[in-house]
Amino acid sequence: MINDIKEVLFSEEVLRSKVKEMAQQISEDYQGKDLLLVGVLKGANVFMCDLMREISFPIQIDFIAASSYGHSTESSGVVKILKDLDYSIEGRDVIIVEDIIDTGLTLQYLIKNFKSRNPRSIEICTLLNKPERRIANIDVKYIGYKIPDEFIVGYGIDYAEKYRNLPFIASLKESVYTK
Ligand code: 5GP
Repeated sequence: MINDIKEVLFSEEVLRSKVKEMAQQISEDYQGKDLLLVGVLKGANVFMCDLMREISFPIQIDFIAASSYGHSTESSGVVKILKDLDYSIEGRDVIIVEDIIDTGLTLQYLIKNFKSRNPRSIEICTLLNKPERRIANIDVKYIGYKIPDEFIVGYGIDYAEKYRNLPFIASLKESVYTK
């Protein structure tokens, strides 16, 4: 697996301290509120698990699985909900937890869908942001890192369902795509 890596962009240590910093900000902002974190599967899984363990008060979690990519590296813009929320979000303070915002089309769809369920508030938290590729205009409250337009993997994020188990975030060698 390591042979497929072009460059490590964010090491385990760097990610740990960034996630802690983001969780501290969320803890401050939502102290005393009824916070529900919604992780977008599968990519945000690892980020979500680390983030929630650094939040300083009792919260609830849920997951939604949405797919817009299939096995390619380009967003189709068509979002399919593969697994819906387990619980109602009506009257709740919700943060959607994403791995990467690229075109923003997935989130645009999810935000509209969630708003129709009448949450008390809804904000977005993403570990990575690729603003150069944005198509949909989205307000993002919590952003870990801004990254250039490069296809990355690791820390829960896949290429063709592989590399999610890398503990760091990295770019892949070109030869991996053309195999
Ligand atoms: P968007 O709808 O914003 O274009 O796409 C969001 C989703 O696309 C992310 O949650 C992520 O799953 C996927 N994605 C965007 N950029 C990358 C990337 O560089 N690498 C991988 N593996 N997935 C990406």
